[in-house]
Amino acid sequence: MEPRRPTVSRILGGVAVALFLGTLLLWWLGTLPGHVEFPVGREIFGDIPDPLIALFYGGMAAFLALSVYLFSLRSRNWERGGPDPRLGHWGKRVKSLVSALRMRTVMRDRAAGWMHAMIYWGFVVLFLGTATLEVDHLLPDGLKFLHGVFYQGYSLILDVAGVVFVVGVLWAIVRRYGVRPWRLRSKTRDEDAWILFTLAMIGITGLLVEAARIALVGRPSFEVWSIVGYPLSGLFGASTVQAWHRALWILHVVSFTAFLVLLPTTKLRHLFLSPANMVLSTRERPKGAMREMPNLMEAEDIETVGTSVVSDFTWKQLLDTDACTVCGRCTSVCPANVTGKPLDPREVVLKLGEVAATTGTPVVSSTVMGDGAITVSADSVFERITPEELWACTTCRACDEICPVNIEIVDKILDMRRYLSLMESEFPSELGKTYVALENQGNPWGMAQQDRVAWTKRVDFDVKILEEGVSAEYLYWVGCAGSFDDRNQKVTISTARLFHEAGVDFAILGNRERCSGDPARRSGNEYVFQQLALENIETLTSLGVHKIVTQCPHCYNTLKNEYAQFGADFELIHHSELLNSLIKEGRLSVDAGDSSATYHDPCYLGRYNDVYDAPRAVVGTAEGLIEMDRSKSSSFCCGAGGAQFWMEDKIGKKVNVERAQEALATGADEIAVACPFCFIMIDDAVKELGQEVPVKDISQILAERVFR
Ligand code: SF4
Ligand code: SF4
Repeated sequence: MEPRRPTVSRILGGVAVALFLGTLLLWWLGTLPGHVEFPVGREIFGDIPDPLIALFYGGMAAFLALSVYLFSLRSRNWERGGPDPRLGHWGKRVKSLVSALRMRTVMRDRAAGWMHAMIYWGFVVLFLGTATLEVDHLLPDGLKFLHGVFYQGYSLILDVAGVVFVVGVLWAIVRRYGVRPWRLRSKTRDEDAWILFTLAMIGITGLLVEAARIALVGRPSFEVWSIVGYPLSGLFGASTVQAWHRALWILHVVSFTAFLVLLPTTKLRHLFLSPANMVLSTRERPKGAMREMPNLMEAEDIETVGTSVVSDFTWKQLLDTDACTVCGRCTSVCPANVTGKPLDPREVVLKLGEVAATTGTPVVSSTVMGDGAITVSADSVFERITPEELWACTTCRACDEICPVNIEIVDKILDMRRYLSLMESEFPSELGKTYVALENQGNPWGMAQQDRVAWTKRVDFDVKILEEGVSAEYLYWVGCAGSFDDRNQKVTISTARLFHEAGVDFAILGNRERCSGDPARRSGNEYVFQQLALENIETLTSLGVHKIVTQCPHCYNTLKNEYAQFGADFELIHHSELLNSLIKEGRLSVDAGDSSATYHDPCYLGRYNDVYDAPRAVVGTAEGLIEMDRSKSSSFCCGAGGAQFWMEDKIGKKVNVERAQEALATGADEIAVACPFCFIMIDDAVKELGQEVPVKDISQILAERVFR
């Protein structure tokens, strides 16, 4: 018989048994004779009758074991997912753990961050304090340490932690039920009330039981270090204090056992699962790369592509759904949601969790206690998630970037798109034409390949075309927009003129360049993507290309981060980076003007590849730079990504209009862009709004100040 694999659920099952037996062992150890009393210290379980102590240990053993067992049932759902190796890069993972414990990502929203930190750290200190008490209780008399000055310091720290914890919980109650920001209000369920009530009960009864205990022992002066318990102890009269002490102690213990049940069955589970999720976040591939797929041209035994049932997702994608704190930050920054489209990234995560929870064996509680009327009758995410939601995504990564617990939302959306596109042929009709153009002409515009070099006739120098016997330091990857779109041909000409002026040794691929495949891959058509990618890789490799410069962030991202999945290794440089270097090296002489520009960050350059400074430096060298409210990693999408450029933006407000209005509101003389698709989207929107503020690529702004 094959040995049973140690899975997470089996390990947790073992932990549950160990906790049960271990807690009973602690009880027995605590009954051994020989406990000494110190003049400055406290008697553990003082005034608590033996039967109640027995009930306490028996109950704790049972509820601790139950809590871990319920976690083990949840973890069976994660085990339904496919493989997703996450066991390398431990240095980075430790950093993520430190960042999780420091609440660095939660702190991006200051108010919510401080509230969470107060609850979390208050709770941790109180828990460690209780554990310290238990350890001291079990130690032989000669080794006990919780007395004298140490005891007084301990009392002070625990009382401060108790206050911090209670204030944090009260703040959370006020936020959720008083201030009621939309992202909390829209998802407030009964479980939120239960969680907050239980936490408040633990904190308040903890402080009161301390006060009653001090009153019961006659309020000795050394207890003044219990800065909350001591003053409150004056509230208890001598005749009733014993009854109060026992009642509050029982209430405190019952609150904690309720917490142990809520922990695995409600979203409170994020207390453990969010830090775990952050530690396990993807390190194996760059954030700009979609999940790798086998080579569809060669593989013969692939039954399905993409994800539609729970087992199609990876274990990590399923763990994500349990780690979600339901905070809604992802939704608040989603351009599709903000402009009224049917996509809510938080719902995508929660709905996948609902399908996993209700179709698992055994069925576990839903990701968040939801609407009782919602049913999931089959193991298919499309029972809960509609194609309209998925096709509304611009793949801008704003949701992934802001998620405080590193949930990978875009990956899930794109995997489901892969299924819709390749298994069901269910995609917006406009995309059909794009796919045909990509397959037949090698570009989404459907233009003749020989027109790729038309722009070279509009510059007054020869542009090298790379072929056998021709070499160049840089391959200038022009991209389809830069080759075929009128507005972007001007960008290509500016860029080439600047390279020429600075003496850059560059060549283009000419008619052998094909679309990088980004619109096919982001719309789920992995097959067309791989066709284009493999052809480009073969061309580039056969010509010995290594350094590639391009003005298109989509090509940049795909060639840099995704072609590596097929064995390619190219060094990618965005034109903003090369132009900035040329300025710094003094190879371009810039006569700065006195006009101003605001710069729009392209998602695929900024959030996908962390290039924020170089384009700003180029614009800043030529003219004054004004930032928009949403910039850099919080930038707002132009609406073109995820192949949206090739679909119609029919529902709600247009994303490009929303962004153009923000750019216009800065009052800048020009709007600077660094992506051909952002260029078209923002320029169209400015015109639609009846405005005349010019939209220019950074190379055009620079060229105007170089070729005066
Ligand atoms: S990638 Fe952008 S559009 Fe898509 S769900 Fe996330 S925030 Fe919304
Ligand atoms: S996915 Fe992340 S940002 Fe969105 S609700 Fe869940 S925890 Fe919050």
